[in-house]
Amino acid sequence: MSEDLEKAHERMIVEQLQRRGIADRRVLAAMRTVPRHRFVPVELADQAYDDNPLPIGESQTISQPYMVALICEAATLTGSEKVLEVGTGSGYQAAVLSRLAAEVYSIECIEQLCNRARQVLQNVGITNVHLRLGDGSFGWPEEAPFDVIVVTAAMPCVPAMLLGQLKPEGRLIAPIGEQELQTLVSIRRVKGHWQEEYFGECRFVRMTGRYGFTD
Ligand code: SAM
Repeated sequence: MSEDLEKAHERMIVEQLQRRGIADRRVLAAMRTVPRHRFVPVELADQAYDDNPLPIGESQTISQPYMVALICEAATLTGSEKVLEVGTGSGYQAAVLSRLAAEVYSIECIEQLCNRARQVLQNVGITNVHLRLGDGSFGWPEEAPFDVIVVTAAMPCVPAMLLGQLKPEGRLIAPIGEQELQTLVSIRRVKGHWQEEYFGECRFVRMTGRYGFTD
Protein backbone atom coordinates (compact mmCIF):
# COMPACT_ATOMS: atom_id res chain seq x y z
CA MET A 1 0.00 0.00 0.00
CA SER A 2 1.31 3.49 -0.81
CA GLU A 3 2.11 5.84 2.05
CA ASP A 4 -0.76 8.13 1.01
CA LEU A 5 -3.28 5.29 1.14
CA GLU A 6 -1.90 4.10 4.47
CA LYS A 7 -2.35 7.56 5.96
CA ALA A 8 -5.84 7.90 4.48
CA HIS A 9 -6.75 4.48 5.91
CA GLU A 10 -5.64 5.47 9.43
CA ARG A 11 -7.40 8.85 9.14
CA MET A 12 -10.58 7.01 8.20
CA ILE A 13 -10.36 4.90 11.39
CA VAL A 14 -9.81 7.89 13.66
CA GLU A 15 -11.90 10.63 12.07
CA GLN A 16 -14.79 8.72 10.54
CA LEU A 17 -15.15 5.84 13.00
CA GLN A 18 -13.72 6.55 16.46
CA ARG A 19 -14.79 10.21 16.53
CA ARG A 20 -18.33 9.19 15.58
CA GLY A 21 -18.56 6.68 18.39
CA ILE A 22 -17.43 3.34 16.97
CA ALA A 23 -15.77 1.90 20.05
CA ASP A 24 -15.72 -1.89 19.60
CA ARG A 25 -12.02 -2.72 19.46
CA ARG A 26 -12.53 -5.81 17.33
CA VAL A 27 -14.49 -3.79 14.77
CA LEU A 28 -11.81 -1.08 14.66
CA ALA A 29 -9.10 -3.74 14.26
CA ALA A 30 -11.02 -5.44 11.44
CA MET A 31 -11.55 -2.11 9.66
CA ARG A 32 -7.78 -1.51 10.02
CA THR A 33 -6.76 -4.84 8.52
CA VAL A 34 -9.06 -4.93 5.49
CA PRO A 35 -7.63 -2.93 2.56
CA ARG A 36 -10.72 -1.09 1.29
CA HIS A 37 -8.84 0.22 -1.76
CA ARG A 38 -8.67 -3.36 -3.11
CA PHE A 39 -12.49 -3.55 -3.19
CA VAL A 40 -13.18 -0.42 -5.26
CA PRO A 41 -12.58 0.02 -9.00
CA VAL A 42 -8.86 0.71 -9.66
CA GLU A 43 -9.54 4.24 -10.89
CA LEU A 44 -11.20 5.09 -7.55
CA ALA A 45 -8.51 3.58 -5.29
CA ASP A 46 -7.32 7.04 -4.17
CA GLN A 47 -10.87 7.76 -2.89
CA ALA A 48 -11.28 4.40 -1.13
CA TYR A 49 -10.90 5.89 2.37
CA ASP A 50 -13.16 8.89 1.77
CA ASP A 51 -16.24 9.41 3.91
CA ASN A 52 -18.85 8.24 1.40
CA PRO A 53 -20.11 5.31 -0.65
CA LEU A 54 -18.46 4.78 -4.06
CA PRO A 55 -19.77 3.31 -7.31
CA ILE A 56 -18.69 -0.27 -8.02
CA GLY A 57 -20.43 -0.69 -11.39
CA GLU A 58 -23.82 -2.15 -12.34
CA SER A 59 -25.43 0.93 -10.66
CA GLN A 60 -24.39 -0.40 -7.24
CA THR A 61 -22.20 1.00 -4.46
CA ILE A 62 -19.74 0.00 -1.79
CA SER A 63 -21.14 1.38 1.48
CA GLN A 64 -19.63 4.30 3.39
CA PRO A 65 -16.93 3.05 5.83
CA TYR A 66 -18.85 4.35 8.87
CA MET A 67 -21.96 2.39 7.82
CA VAL A 68 -19.91 -0.81 7.43
CA ALA A 69 -18.45 -0.32 10.92
CA LEU A 70 -21.83 0.58 12.45
CA ILE A 71 -23.43 -2.59 11.05
CA CYS A 72 -20.52 -4.68 12.34
CA GLU A 73 -20.75 -3.08 15.79
CA ALA A 74 -24.53 -3.61 15.90
CA ALA A 75 -23.93 -7.30 15.08
CA THR A 76 -22.01 -7.77 18.39
CA LEU A 77 -19.80 -10.54 17.03
CA THR A 78 -17.35 -12.45 19.22
CA GLY A 79 -15.59 -14.62 16.63
CA SER A 80 -17.54 -17.88 16.73
CA GLU A 81 -20.59 -16.87 14.70
CA LYS A 82 -22.04 -18.01 11.41
CA VAL A 83 -23.15 -14.89 9.55
CA LEU A 84 -25.27 -14.34 6.45
CA GLU A 85 -24.88 -11.17 4.41
CA VAL A 86 -27.46 -10.30 1.77
CA GLY A 87 -25.94 -8.00 -0.89
CA THR A 88 -22.25 -8.86 -1.40
CA GLY A 89 -21.61 -5.92 -3.73
CA SER A 90 -17.84 -5.35 -3.70
CA GLY A 91 -17.25 -7.97 -0.98
CA TYR A 92 -15.87 -5.35 1.45
CA GLN A 93 -18.48 -5.73 4.21
CA ALA A 94 -18.14 -9.51 3.92
CA ALA A 95 -14.36 -9.15 4.28
CA VAL A 96 -14.71 -7.06 7.46
CA LEU A 97 -17.29 -9.52 8.84
CA SER A 98 -14.90 -12.39 8.05
CA ARG A 99 -12.43 -10.90 10.58
CA LEU A 100 -15.12 -10.78 13.26
CA ALA A 101 -16.95 -14.10 12.83
CA ALA A 102 -16.12 -17.74 12.07
CA GLU A 103 -17.88 -18.12 8.72
CA VAL A 104 -19.61 -15.62 6.44
CA TYR A 105 -22.15 -16.59 3.79
CA SER A 106 -22.89 -13.80 1.33
CA ILE A 107 -25.35 -13.62 -1.57
CA GLU A 108 -25.25 -11.26 -4.54
CA CYS A 109 -27.78 -11.17 -7.37
CA ILE A 110 -25.58 -9.51 -10.03
CA GLU A 111 -23.21 -11.99 -11.64
CA GLN A 112 -20.43 -9.52 -12.55
CA LEU A 113 -20.30 -8.22 -8.96
CA CYS A 114 -20.38 -11.70 -7.48
CA ASN A 115 -17.48 -12.82 -9.71
CA ARG A 116 -15.45 -9.70 -8.97
CA ALA A 117 -16.00 -10.00 -5.21
CA ARG A 118 -14.95 -13.66 -5.31
CA GLN A 119 -11.74 -12.70 -7.10
CA VAL A 120 -10.88 -9.82 -4.75
CA LEU A 121 -11.57 -11.88 -1.62
CA GLN A 122 -9.26 -14.57 -2.97
CA ASN A 123 -6.59 -11.97 -3.85
CA VAL A 124 -6.57 -10.57 -0.31
CA GLY A 125 -6.40 -14.08 1.18
CA ILE A 126 -9.82 -14.38 2.79
CA THR A 127 -10.99 -17.99 2.94
CA ASN A 128 -13.98 -17.97 5.32
CA VAL A 129 -16.41 -16.10 3.04
CA HIS A 130 -18.71 -18.29 0.96
CA LEU A 131 -20.34 -16.52 -1.97
CA ARG A 132 -23.45 -17.42 -3.89
CA LEU A 133 -25.06 -15.83 -6.93
CA GLY A 134 -28.82 -15.46 -6.54
CA ASP A 135 -31.75 -13.74 -4.89
CA GLY A 136 -30.83 -13.29 -1.25
CA SER A 137 -34.12 -11.67 -0.27
CA PHE A 138 -35.27 -15.05 1.01
CA GLY A 139 -31.97 -15.90 2.63
CA TRP A 140 -29.90 -19.06 2.28
CA PRO A 141 -32.20 -21.76 3.74
CA GLU A 142 -29.75 -24.62 3.10
CA GLU A 143 -27.14 -22.99 5.37
CA ALA A 144 -29.55 -21.68 8.04
CA PRO A 145 -29.71 -21.13 10.96
CA PHE A 146 -27.41 -18.13 11.35
CA ASP A 147 -26.30 -16.25 14.46
CA VAL A 148 -26.45 -12.97 12.57
CA ILE A 149 -28.01 -11.83 9.29
CA VAL A 150 -26.79 -8.57 7.81
CA VAL A 151 -28.74 -6.99 4.96
CA THR A 152 -26.93 -4.33 2.93
CA ALA A 153 -29.74 -3.29 0.57
CA ALA A 154 -32.91 -1.49 1.65
CA MET A 155 -35.92 -3.69 2.40
CA PRO A 156 -39.50 -2.36 2.46
CA CYS A 157 -40.32 -4.11 5.74
CA VAL A 158 -38.82 -6.48 8.28
CA PRO A 159 -38.35 -9.71 6.36
CA ALA A 160 -40.10 -12.59 8.16
CA MET A 161 -38.42 -15.05 5.79
CA LEU A 162 -34.98 -13.94 7.02
CA LEU A 163 -36.00 -13.80 10.69
CA GLY A 164 -36.99 -17.44 10.33
CA GLN A 165 -33.37 -18.32 9.47
CA LEU A 166 -31.95 -16.99 12.75
CA LYS A 167 -30.82 -19.14 15.66
CA PRO A 168 -32.50 -18.59 19.04
CA GLU A 169 -30.90 -15.34 20.35
CA GLY A 170 -29.92 -14.50 16.76
CA ARG A 171 -30.09 -10.98 15.34
CA LEU A 172 -30.78 -9.33 12.03
CA ILE A 173 -29.42 -5.92 11.04
CA ALA A 174 -31.06 -4.27 8.06
CA PRO A 175 -31.97 -0.90 6.52
CA ILE A 176 -35.76 -0.85 6.59
CA GLY A 177 -38.00 1.68 4.87
CA GLU A 178 -39.99 2.50 1.77
CA GLN A 179 -38.39 5.90 1.17
CA GLU A 180 -34.99 6.99 -0.09
CA LEU A 181 -33.87 7.25 3.54
CA GLN A 182 -34.23 4.15 5.67
CA THR A 183 -33.68 3.29 9.35
CA LEU A 184 -30.93 0.89 10.32
CA VAL A 185 -32.68 -1.62 12.56
CA SER A 186 -31.35 -4.47 14.68
CA ILE A 187 -33.90 -7.14 15.55
CA ARG A 188 -32.86 -9.65 18.17
CA ARG A 189 -34.70 -12.67 19.50
CA VAL A 190 -34.49 -12.64 23.30
CA LYS A 191 -36.23 -15.47 25.16
CA GLY A 192 -38.73 -15.92 22.36
CA HIS A 193 -39.52 -12.20 21.92
CA TRP A 194 -38.29 -9.82 19.25
CA GLN A 195 -36.42 -6.75 20.51
CA GLU A 196 -35.80 -3.88 18.12
CA GLU A 197 -33.01 -1.33 18.36
CA TYR A 198 -32.57 1.63 16.02
CA PHE A 199 -29.27 2.99 14.73
CA GLY A 200 -30.41 6.09 12.88
CA GLU A 201 -31.06 7.00 9.28
CA CYS A 202 -29.19 5.49 6.37
CA ARG A 203 -29.37 5.40 2.59
CA PHE A 204 -28.96 2.08 0.78
CA VAL A 205 -29.74 0.94 -2.73
CA ARG A 206 -32.98 -0.98 -2.93
CA MET A 207 -33.23 -4.72 -2.55
CA THR A 208 -34.59 -6.46 -5.61
CA GLY A 209 -35.92 -10.02 -5.75
CA ARG A 210 -38.91 -11.81 -4.33
CA TYR A 211 -39.03 -9.99 -0.95
CA GLY A 212 -37.49 -6.74 -2.16
CA PHE A 213 -39.04 -3.79 -3.99
CA THR A 214 -41.10 -4.64 -7.01
CA ASP A 215 -41.25 -1.19 -8.69
N1 SAM B 1 -22.14 -4.94 1.15
C1 SAM B 1 -21.70 -4.33 -0.08
C2 SAM B 1 -20.26 -3.94 -0.06
O1 SAM B 1 -19.60 -4.09 0.98
O2 SAM B 1 -19.77 -3.52 -1.12
C3 SAM B 1 -22.55 -3.16 -0.49
C4 SAM B 1 -23.88 -3.60 -0.90
S1 SAM B 1 -24.70 -2.60 -2.08
C5 SAM B 1 -25.13 -1.24 -1.11
C6 SAM B 1 -26.18 -3.57 -2.23
C7 SAM B 1 -25.98 -4.85 -3.00
O3 SAM B 1 -27.14 -5.64 -2.83
C8 SAM B 1 -25.81 -4.63 -4.49
O4 SAM B 1 -24.62 -5.22 -4.93
C9 SAM B 1 -27.03 -5.33 -5.09
O5 SAM B 1 -26.80 -5.92 -6.34
C10 SAM B 1 -27.34 -6.36 -4.01
N2 SAM B 1 -28.73 -6.86 -4.03
C11 SAM B 1 -29.88 -6.16 -4.22
N3 SAM B 1 -30.94 -6.99 -4.15
C12 SAM B 1 -30.44 -8.23 -3.93
C13 SAM B 1 -31.05 -9.52 -3.79
N4 SAM B 1 -32.36 -9.71 -3.85
N5 SAM B 1 -30.23 -10.58 -3.58
C14 SAM B 1 -28.88 -10.43 -3.51
N6 SAM B 1 -28.26 -9.24 -3.64
C15 SAM B 1 -29.04 -8.15 -3.84
